[in-house]
Amino acid sequence: MDKILFVAQTECDGLLGKASLEALAAAKTLAGQLNAELAVGLVGADVKAAADAVAGCGAAAFYGVSGAEYATARYATDAAALAALCTAAGANIVIGAATSRMSRVLPGVAARLGGRSDTGVTALNVQDGKLMATRWYYRQRMFAELTRQERPWCLSLSSGCVAPYEGAAGSADVTAVTPELPATGLRTEVTSMICPSAEEQTIRPDAALLFVAGAGWTKKQADGVPHLTEAEQLILGFLGKMQASLGTSKSLVDLSGEGQQVMSFLTHMHQVGQTGSTPRHAKGLATCCHGEEPHTVGWRFIGERRAINLDANCGWAQGKADVLYVAVAFDVMRKVLEMMP
Ligand SMILES: Cc1cc2nc3c(=O)[nH]c(=O)nc-3n(C[C@H](O)[C@H](O)[C@H](O)COP(=O)(O)OP(=O)(O)OC[C@H]3O[C@@H](n4cnc5c(N)ncnc54)[C@H](O)[C@@H]3O)c2cc1C
Repeated sequence: MDKILFVAQTECDGLLGKASLEALAAAKTLAGQLNAELAVGLVGADVKAAADAVAGCGAAAFYGVSGAEYATARYATDAAALAALCTAAGANIVIGAATSRMSRVLPGVAARLGGRSDTGVTALNVQDGKLMATRWYYRQRMFAELTRQERPWCLSLSSGCVAPYEGAAGSADVTAVTPELPATGLRTEVTSMICPSAEEQTIRPDAALLFVAGAGWTKKQADGVPHLTEAEQLILGFLGKMQASLGTSKSLVDLSGEGQQVMSFLTHMHQVGQTGSTPRHAKGLATCCHGEEPHTVGWRFIGERRAINLDANCGWAQGKADVLYVAVAFDVMRKVLEMMP
């Protein structure tokens, strides 16, 4: 019988984040399909509250590594904790969320246990009694369905692919597990966490809308001069009201690297595309962005796509957008802001 272990690190509030709850939902569904036993393995300062919150998930056992040294991300402690959880559970399939903390460590855990790892998986299915994982390759241009003989098979699931687990809380009986930490001691000391405030944070993976600002916002407009200040006001005004996530094109972030005056709130982290990110949002609005292939490949998982561009022959018009507004983005966004409450 397969033994599936769902693994997660707890968030600052001691509970599980949305991405981890999605991975738990996927692990639970898979356990049903494979007729396998499900177990939960948690890492954090104190994992009891997180375990209690998902007590009704149907897991046969709960394992936990708790302690101040496991509160934040650090390779040595996370790898040792997850490897100990897998061993304690006797798991041959290990499923976590593809968060930055988990993605960093799960392949190393597989290596320690003599298993294999696949990262950023988008679906888990069963064919002929075998687990099949779906994964995109070549910057989301093609996908493969793959299976493996080697065990344990450690998989991290990309966020936004399944609905998060929702179930009754309760009281979970957590078996405490003690990892074997490196004999050399812990050479990395976590001193503090510096997080941007909610207002400064413009990358919002859970937002309903992705707003993309392209290089056109910085170009000379009909009156022969650029209008950078107004561009910033319109973009930030819309983001604030809509609580949309902000993306950008490579051209716009590269301008800042070349020392040109550009929008201060745009970083390389915002770049969407082949050499940028592949976000998942229900809707997307591209403004002043040409919609070239290396950019739009990052829109693979955006549901409804709209674009505003002066050029009726821009890339968005070549089958990349559902709706293209051929218009001056300044005028459109000014009007949109007026209409928003
Ligand atoms: C290997 C490789 C990888 C790449 N990876 C990426 C990537 O990951 N992401 C990415 O974005 N790009 C990537 N690129 C670059 C990509 O090919 C384009 O150069 C880039 O996306 C163009 O950015 P842009 O559309 O913002 O700028 P531009 O091409 O300069 O387009 C600006 C647009 O703004 C419009 N515009 C101007 N003023 C207004 C206005 N007032 N109202 C409405 N529209 C207006 C113009 O009509 C124009 O279409 C890659 C290229 C290569 C070769």
